[in-house]
Amino acid sequence: MPTTESKKQMTDDLKRCMEFHGHICPGLVYGYRVAKEAMRLMDLGRAVDEEVVAICENDSCAIDALQVLLGTVAGKGNLIIKDFGKNAYTVLNRSGRQAYRFFRTTNYEYRGEAKADYDRLEAAMSAGTASAADRQNLKRLKVDDLLARPFGDIFTTAEIPFVEPLYAQLDRSEPCACCGEMTMAAKMVRLSDGRQACIPCSQKG
Ligand SMILES: [Zn+2]
Ligand SMILES: [Zn+2]
Repeated sequence: MPTTESKKQMTDDLKRCMEFHGHICPGLVYGYRVAKEAMRLMDLGRAVDEEVVAICENDSCAIDALQVLLGTVAGKGNLIIKDFGKNAYTVLNRSGRQAYRFFRTTNYEYRGEAKADYDRLEAAMSAGTASAADRQNLKRLKVDDLLARPFGDIFTTAEIPFVEPLYAQLDRSEPCACCGEMTMAAKMVRLSDGRQACIPCSQKG
């Protein structure tokens, strides 16, 4: 059983995710559960630099919980989004040279009381009689269920070989030959006349 202290910690962490994301939703809770599990397995804190790297296989709400808790954030080069539309996440720890992938292989199934509530709300949804409160309750039901479940009920965890991810690219900037705006050299495209242009200018033809 979690102690009162760890329960409080859970609540505070989730609250911080909600504040960043703007609302609570099942997607955010998926990310929250993954981040907490990765922190537990690899004894991670929030990354100051790029010591923790997350690879997210979707671009959903879940990513925001990883940004808040793991410090794997969009601007630091340690959040890699591969939008495969999969509820799957890999978290790498450079110092421990460890990597875990979390993924799902089954449809979400409610059990017991939650199942009865779900069936009733779903029936109202498909009959077109669901109220705004019903729709809200359906979302809330999944959030509560996701928070209450043992992690292994939701995600399969696999330790995978650690492959050192590249560090964020640092590069000089040069002016684009067409628009004159400073552009990271590695991101420029060579035009047929040999001049270097930014990507949007190169696509104007
Ligand atoms: Zn959301
Ligand atoms: Zn340009």
